[in-house]
Amino acid sequence: MQISFHGAAGDVTGSCHLLEVGKQRILIDCGLFQGSKRLREENSEPFGFDPASVDVMLLTHAHLDHCGRIPLLVKQGFQGRILTTAATVDLAKLVLLDAARLQEEEAERYGVAALFGTQDVEQALPRLQGVMAYGTPREVAPGVRATFGDAGHILGSAWILLEVEEGGKTRNIVFSGDLGNPGNPILRDPQRLAAVDTLVMESTYGDRNHRSRAETLAEFRQAITQTLSGGGNVVIPTFALERAQDLLFYLRQFMQDGSVPNSTPVFLDSPMAISATEIFRRHPECFDPEVRQRELAGEDPFALPRLQFTQTSEASRAIAAAHGAIIMAGSGMATGGRVLHHLKNNLDGAANRVILVGYAAAGTPARALADGVKELNVYGSTVAVKAQVSTIGGFSAHAGHDDLIAWAQSGKPRQVLLVHGEEDAATVLAGDLEKQGLAAHVPHLGETWDLTAARNTSAGK
Ligand code: ZN
Repeated sequence: MQISFHGAAGDVTGSCHLLEVGKQRILIDCGLFQGSKRLREENSEPFGFDPASVDVMLLTHAHLDHCGRIPLLVKQGFQGRILTTAATVDLAKLVLLDAARLQEEEAERYGVAALFGTQDVEQALPRLQGVMAYGTPREVAPGVRATFGDAGHILGSAWILLEVEEGGKTRNIVFSGDLGNPGNPILRDPQRLAAVDTLVMESTYGDRNHRSRAETLAEFRQAITQTLSGGGNVVIPTFALERAQDLLFYLRQFMQDGSVPNSTPVFLDSPMAISATEIFRRHPECFDPEVRQRELAGEDPFALPRLQFTQTSEASRAIAAAHGAIIMAGSGMATGGRVLHHLKNNLDGAANRVILVGYAAAGTPARALADGVKELNVYGSTVAVKAQVSTIGGFSAHAGHDDLIAWAQSGKPRQVLLVHGEEDAATVLAGDLEKQGLAAHVPHLGETWDLTAARNTSAGK
């Protein structure tokens, strides 16, 4: 029994791990490499295994860095089923079609070939099957049983336990996928582990903890109330999936407790975030017990008195006339999308405020704003930055350092293989796991690990 790492090894994107048990080949995630040019170029490289030889794929969640190479996998010969939760199927469909559209647009603009297009996604989608319910084991290959546990990261997200019969013995291995930050307002906290032999765990925040949820919310509330009481607009560049719904939920809380006036116009100006919110509404089985109970009592967790979902570009343009409004729009790092118009309209007003609620990669407009630039280039014109800019860092969808260690300890694993983290973060976490008496290793891209002997058999790149 062995596992090889074909993405998110020493990096945070491109998750793709191949488990081989006898003649069975099981792929866990098949994500897109994102970020720097060097990483993006990995997407065009061979997988490191023959897609046609894979029997079945299991998908932890619908983020592009976990599902984005599925169209390529199918195009290159994979003929098996992709098993996941029902909510993940709905979200993955949305995410993959959006990615294909963006790539087709980019290909046309720059005269290059798209990595994959809408047709490739449509070919791949029928393979996705939302048959996995949390906590219900299912045989996914001869002698291999899979159970999905709630990872509390985004709607439908799971960690995956595989129990393998080999030589009269049962061995088990858990893939964490992305592990959630406990205290998410809508989702359940990550479910703890039972005893596990091998744990393949993410390490995105392996070297740091997040600011507490209570402090984060207090900051967010204050940034909003200050701006609204001064008559300004609040512009929030936001990711369409999970963050936008979390924010709607918090705004509803603020209006219920009276800290934000009910009369405040709120715009969700992102067709993708609107679709994602509809998918949330269709999957209340993923909500935490309190939200679920209120949902059953007829309450809509995402409803606000003056909330507008602006689907068309006409409706989006009309937002320019709004005052004292909260405007949420994509993209999350302001690298494109409708948020650029709102930045253009609002940055030069001292009464307005931009609230950055997500990760801002180096080189993006969101990072420039966070770093305090005095002017920003938007659509070829220079806009003075007179608006306040607040960076609120505690909304992460990932477990922090201490949460990762506590979660790993709950399974008392014989070995921990750390993936999905920058080399530095993964190394710090490996050291701290060792201090807790857990053997930890950070595999390289292409590395193969013998699970029975607990050592690597090829070192990879
Ligand atoms: Zn994720």
